[in-house]
Amino acid sequence: MKCRHCKTLLKNTFIDLGYAPPSNAYLNENDLNRPEIYYPLKIKVCNKCWLVQTEDFADAEALFTSDYAYFSSTSSSWLLHAKEYAKKMIKDLNLNNKSMVIEVASNDGYLLKNFIKEKIPCLGIEPTKSTADVAKKLNIPVIVDFFSETLGKKIVSEKKKADLIIGNNVYAHVPDINDFTRGLKTALKSDGLITLEFPHVMNLIKLNQFDTIYHEHFSYLSLDTVNRIFSSEGLRVWHVEKLATHGGSLRIYGCHENDKRKNNESVIKLLNEESNAGLQTLETYLNFKDQVNKIKNDLISFLIQQKNKGHKVIAYGAAAKGNTLLNYAGVRGDLVDFVVDKSSFKIGKYLPASHIQIFNEEKIRKVRPDYVLILPWNIQDEIQKQLSYIKDWNGKFLVAVPELKIIN
Ligand SMILES: [Zn+2]
Repeated sequence: MKCRHCKTLLKNTFIDLGYAPPSNAYLNENDLNRPEIYYPLKIKVCNKCWLVQTEDFADAEALFTSDYAYFSSTSSSWLLHAKEYAKKMIKDLNLNNKSMVIEVASNDGYLLKNFIKEKIPCLGIEPTKSTADVAKKLNIPVIVDFFSETLGKKIVSEKKKADLIIGNNVYAHVPDINDFTRGLKTALKSDGLITLEFPHVMNLIKLNQFDTIYHEHFSYLSLDTVNRIFSSEGLRVWHVEKLATHGGSLRIYGCHENDKRKNNESVIKLLNEESNAGLQTLETYLNFKDQVNKIKNDLISFLIQQKNKGHKVIAYGAAAKGNTLLNYAGVRGDLVDFVVDKSSFKIGKYLPASHIQIFNEEKIRKVRPDYVLILPWNIQDEIQKQLSYIKDWNGKFLVAVPELKIIN
């Protein structure tokens, strides 16, 4: 396989997580006696442009089925993040009723609703019908499709070129990252702004966040790599911010190559930091698997110990990252009794591969588990607050990443 960006032959494996079903392929009861499709989950690294990428195996459409269950609005901290971002952009860019804001992967309208409220024209692009339908109910126009250069041209033909194009947690999910980037360039006004947020691969490596690896996630990005991709398509990254979301993300600010905006020193500063962290050194990537295997072994040992003591362990958060962790570690319902989630779309279903059943929160109060394994560690504080009552029966929280930790 060749690098999706620079076409160099990929010879180096970053991590091989074996085989797994798509992490959002939740199962109904009657799916349990049907075969389940497993895809290889092997991640390569390009030793020329350092793009960390999933090995090819299936098309994107198969992974984002119409009952795809992730609704952005289920996380209250993410909603606040979106609201603050919208406020800042409206002010910085003087957006008004003559502007155009496009969000790629607009999901259930969690972000664009903040612009609609201020009467700023918007357009959402969202391939998942179930989430797009929710956004449409909020009066947000949505094109139900994948974003691409072709779609960018369609937007231009409809005279909807954007002052601002937003892509939160979509850039890493795109199979053809060059084509997507050309689409950004096509749909952007000459003085327009692009902001993209994506998990920073530097944190993935530093903080052992291997559970953020799943099929839907095609790339794991550094500023250096994004900078290269932008340059190759006539765009320029002129500013970058570090964000705490998703365990450490970047928000990059892009514009046309010849835009008047000057490069902020944040760009060169972070490029240096990445270089010092070894992101342009092959060994950094090749050593990752040892860190990951330690987490897997520590988690399994702990769960077996608890089982032998007769303790009850359950999990919270039926999110994609939980599935990667549980599947790679081979954890099944014999070690983790059940998982609890807020999303009504998931309750009653089963996690892919592990077939652990998903319940609503009431089940925690009923069962009074000794340990609650928090799977989405990126919203750990929020979950601990929400479930603080487990202290009533001396229940404890547990996280596996970046290392196994019991929280009293
Ligand atoms: Zn490459």
